[in-house]
Amino acid sequence: MAYDHLLSPLTLGDLTLRNRIVMGSMHTGLEDRRWDLPKLAAYFAERAKGGTGLIVTGGYAPNKRGWLKPFASEMTTRLHAMRHREVTAAVHEHGGAIALQILHAGRYGYHPFSVSASATKSPITPFRPTALSTKGVDDTASDFARAARLAQKAGYDAVEVMGSEGYLINQFLAERTNDRTDKWGGSALNRMRFPVEVVRRAREAVGAGFPILYRISLLDLVEGGQTWEETVALAHALQEAGVTAFNTGIGWHEARVPTIITQVPRAAWRGYTARLRAEVDVPVCASNRINTPEIAEDILASGDADLVSMARPLLADPEFAAKAAEGRADEINTCIACNQACLDHAFSNRPASCLVNPRAGRETTLVLSPTRTRRSVAVVGAGPAGLATAVSAAERGLAVTLFEKAPQIGGQFRLAMAVPGKEDFAETLRYYGRRLEVLGVDVRLSTEATAADLAVFDEVVVATGVEPRIPVIEGVDHPRVVSYADVLAGRVVPGRRVAVIGAGGIGVDVSHWLVHEPESPEEWMAHWGVGDPAIDRGGLTEPKPRTPARQVTLLQRKTTPIGIGLGKTSGWAHRAVLKQAGVTQVSGATYHRVVDHPDGVVLEYAVDGVRHELVVDHIVLCAGQESVRSLMDGPGAERWQLVGGAEVATELDAKRAIEQGTRVAAAL
Ligand code: NAP
Ligand code: SF4
Repeated sequence: MAYDHLLSPLTLGDLTLRNRIVMGSMHTGLEDRRWDLPKLAAYFAERAKGGTGLIVTGGYAPNKRGWLKPFASEMTTRLHAMRHREVTAAVHEHGGAIALQILHAGRYGYHPFSVSASATKSPITPFRPTALSTKGVDDTASDFARAARLAQKAGYDAVEVMGSEGYLINQFLAERTNDRTDKWGGSALNRMRFPVEVVRRAREAVGAGFPILYRISLLDLVEGGQTWEETVALAHALQEAGVTAFNTGIGWHEARVPTIITQVPRAAWRGYTARLRAEVDVPVCASNRINTPEIAEDILASGDADLVSMARPLLADPEFAAKAAEGRADEINTCIACNQACLDHAFSNRPASCLVNPRAGRETTLVLSPTRTRRSVAVVGAGPAGLATAVSAAERGLAVTLFEKAPQIGGQFRLAMAVPGKEDFAETLRYYGRRLEVLGVDVRLSTEATAADLAVFDEVVVATGVEPRIPVIEGVDHPRVVSYADVLAGRVVPGRRVAVIGAGGIGVDVSHWLVHEPESPEEWMAHWGVGDPAIDRGGLTEPKPRTPARQVTLLQRKTTPIGIGLGKTSGWAHRAVLKQAGVTQVSGATYHRVVDHPDGVVLEYAVDGVRHELVVDHIVLCAGQESVRSLMDGPGAERWQLVGGAEVATELDAKRAIEQGTRVAAAL
């Protein structure tokens, strides 16, 4: 497929972009300390080298009160500007363009000095903000302008004013968070005065041709958010004040509708972008859940947007643009919207990386350097750990043979892609399959490697993975007791009443699978209560959860609430799905036995000493895994390396497996 629209240039003021691919803003954790700037420069340089049209940095505060967290990134002095020249030069060296995002966190600031339009605490931070004084608002608008001017001095090609996701600007715009009675509050016109003033002063500071992007919130998805009429009026006023292009955002961080995780249908929000584009005269950029060049091209070709923003997909594959341009789109390492290594890290103060590309954010420390001698490497097992090892070793120039006992690659990952909303996981296996082919890895499927097979290799990496744990419970061998692997692989179709033993990530996923009915993107929107902002303020309406396909009871022995260990940015949505589907959640269970029943099978268990008998059609075991590594008992194993679940099965996930495989390959 040719991506004519995606790869065509676009002029924004004095800046001509080489294509329509925008790397959206994403905080990596490398922004905050000056000694990390070389790493940040390398991270962006790799994306510029890979052909990205415009890169947008993580958010930089225009003043200290606007910090995201204590001592977070800011652009407030000439010294900051000077230091950033390293970043902008690295991008320009590869023909790329880069915009600095100016973000004032407002009440989302994770520190006691936060400020907002009003003194109302957000539901997602522990700190109550101080309401800015009338002069304080005025000064803050000027601070945005100063940051824009400093960005220009630092060599940035543009700035982006962060006006979405619920940060300070939204806090002024929405009735929900603005109860002021001065000129910055009250009527819709007064509430929009702050962002308009920010842009007007920034335009004055940077001159006529310097592009100012404004990230506008198309849907707030919170009660008391903006109406569509207010959003359009704001867009007109901002255009008037000097905005060069609009980027778009969906949902405040405190919204309880998922907007970017895997279960959100791809390009779910494009219709809202198209509506804005019809209202304004400047280019508009689509964002959220756009992860392949095909979708991006379709959005542009259909006229829904002029640019496409992809933040996480560019973490996953820095060469996204180049591969699309060179007819190698099938080699793109696609972002699977898991959030596990990027946003989950960013929101828990850890440096961001990427589950499918652990080199992201570690460009200078995790290097796959070419090998001097073409040694032979055997990798046993083609799950995530084995695939990452094999592909990374082959990229270094090693001669790799990959043994896999199953007829297909994928291991546990192949099961994960059967979970509703995790269909994108198939892209990772497409990527690995194609890379193995391109790199000439000798792939031996349906082949169980023996010690004799492995003896001839210079290096051996054993990635034989895991198998489901069978807990010790009397009667567990009943034919109606099955493993999660049986269900997800389609070997067993459970009846309408199901008990799930074990409520880790897989227990929750399997419960979702059990209650799920296929749904269209429109049904998904209705399920979560996404409406029309022209009718419902903030675009929120009454949710219409779908009727669950099965009656599920999910049990664990721990007494903690179910699902608290799930990902920071996605766990709440998984927990909400269980609640919406009426899944009965049992914590603190002691399993007694499984007994036969004329109408199915009975799980006998107790909670707080009270015995229960649950009659169901099937019991699904999701009780964790055990390592598979019998190969290590054979001759020669002392010089082999174990990776992934074969080494440690506890709390194994694809993030750890892929990172470990990559690191082992880098060190071979
Ligand atoms: P897990 O998270 O370790 O959960 C295993 C569950 O089984 C726990 O709820 C545990 O809880 C129970 N269990 C353990 N031993 C048991 C026994 N002997 N008898 C009865 N119950 C037992 O493992 P998992 O759910 O299989 O997931 C594997 C890995 O994949 C994890 O690292 C997980 O984070 C990852 N994963 C992540 C996601 C995601 O969305 N991020 C999704 C799927 C999987 P009790 O001991 O309290 O009963
Ligand atoms: Fe995408 Fe997951 Fe990587 Fe984040 S960690 S960029 S969501 S694949």
